[in-house]
Amino acid sequence: MLHQLPSLPYAVDALAPYISKETVEFHWGKHHQTYVDNLNKLIVGTKFAEMNLEEIVKSSEGVIFNNAAQIWNHTFYWNSLTPPAGKVPVGPLAEAIKQSFGNFDSFKEKFTNTALGTFGSGWVWLVKNKTNAALEVISTQNAQTPLTVSSIIPLFTCDVWEHAYYIDYRNARAKYLSAFWNIINYDFAMTSFVNE
Ligand code: MN
Repeated sequence: MLHQLPSLPYAVDALAPYISKETVEFHWGKHHQTYVDNLNKLIVGTKFAEMNLEEIVKSSEGVIFNNAAQIWNHTFYWNSLTPPAGKVPVGPLAEAIKQSFGNFDSFKEKFTNTALGTFGSGWVWLVKNKTNAALEVISTQNAQTPLTVSSIIPLFTCDVWEHAYYIDYRNARAKYLSAFWNIINYDFAMTSFVNE
């Protein structure tokens, strides 16, 4: 099957000023697109050619895994973001954050410190433990993804590869992280929290 770059759930300039139009144009339009183009070339004539994206991520390794997982991770990242509207977590998600981290500020500190402490390229995730519904913050390296970990459900993610922030913030990952809190899509996170 031919994989395609998913449409963004908002306009390319909708995350400004926290993430600029130029960053989205490069990050979605070029980086994310390149993973799609690479995967389409790599799977020709392989057992992965007829699989959907999730099946490929769960059953591949090496360069095919890297490109497939990066497609999935980036789509999840765009869905994790929303135009700035001053939203905060509410309802069961807010309650779970309180239960798992004590309060929202402790959660924010944990997530931010995990992002700052992720060496090199990777991702930071808020995940739900399927066994006890507790929330956890985890970091994955390079293209690694919680999609391959059957015990957890990802709720939202922050891409901490340098290409995610270099145009807007140069090397200052902390400034990007600070901006990130203004554009988190808690409705998206809540849907996964409640339904899975
Ligand atoms: Mn990226």
